[in-house]
Amino acid sequence: MRPADFRLNSDGKTRWLSFFPLLNFDFISHGFVIKSKEQNPSTQVKRITLKKLIKRISAEEKHIIIPQQIHGNECLTIKKVDELKRRYKGDAILTDRKDIFLTVSVADCLPIFLVEPKRKVVGLIHAGWRGTLLGIAKETIRKAKEKFGCNPEDFTLLFGPAIQKCCYEISELMAILFDEDGMIRMPGEKPKLDLIYVNMKQFLNCGVKRKKIFATNDCTFCNKDMFHSFRRDGDKAGRMIAFIGIK
Ligand SMILES: [Zn+2]
Repeated sequence: MRPADFRLNSDGKTRWLSFFPLLNFDFISHGFVIKSKEQNPSTQVKRITLKKLIKRISAEEKHIIIPQQIHGNECLTIKKVDELKRRYKGDAILTDRKDIFLTVSVADCLPIFLVEPKRKVVGLIHAGWRGTLLGIAKETIRKAKEKFGCNPEDFTLLFGPAIQKCCYEISELMAILFDEDGMIRMPGEKPKLDLIYVNMKQFLNCGVKRKKIFATNDCTFCNKDMFHSFRRDGDKAGRMIAFIGIK
């Protein structure tokens, strides 16, 4: 796994990150909308703001897919031949279409960007502890093979900002559900879960290449200025939006 630096962009009040490893793919546009500077924690990114931003970035009008996230492991696919539905429900999504942008929203859960340049497929995953435990990473790679004929070794992946192993305390009851190597244990402290590590292991087991996996080291809990965090701000926490689409 390799570190991923980002560029901070802004347009009025809207601030978003773009990640250098993904900027190398000129057939896609992507980003990660973060907290705006003077935003209180509960301010949500409005659909219209997102639409405007995506239009500005992609220079075209696109349909924006905002799936209802349910902490499951299902991977949705939207192919060129499919009719667009009004609603999508699921935590991972893949497409080869140019007329849509995929989004997932997060506040501590791990956003994962997927790019497969050979077949020109892009995707996003929302991976919290439940989805991770259910193997959402593995399921997404399986769907990519089945529906788009992708080879796992052609994927480039990027783990975006999430609550990291410095802060993601979990109970002992929850810790036993995961392999011990995904856990950080310090004497006298609750175990901490390394979501990135657990998901990375799933991808490596599926045949994704280690050198094509990138991660930001930014913890949403630690960095109050940039990120929303459900653990830190509770029910009033806003959400950040990851988006990706084919130009
Ligand atoms: Zn932290």
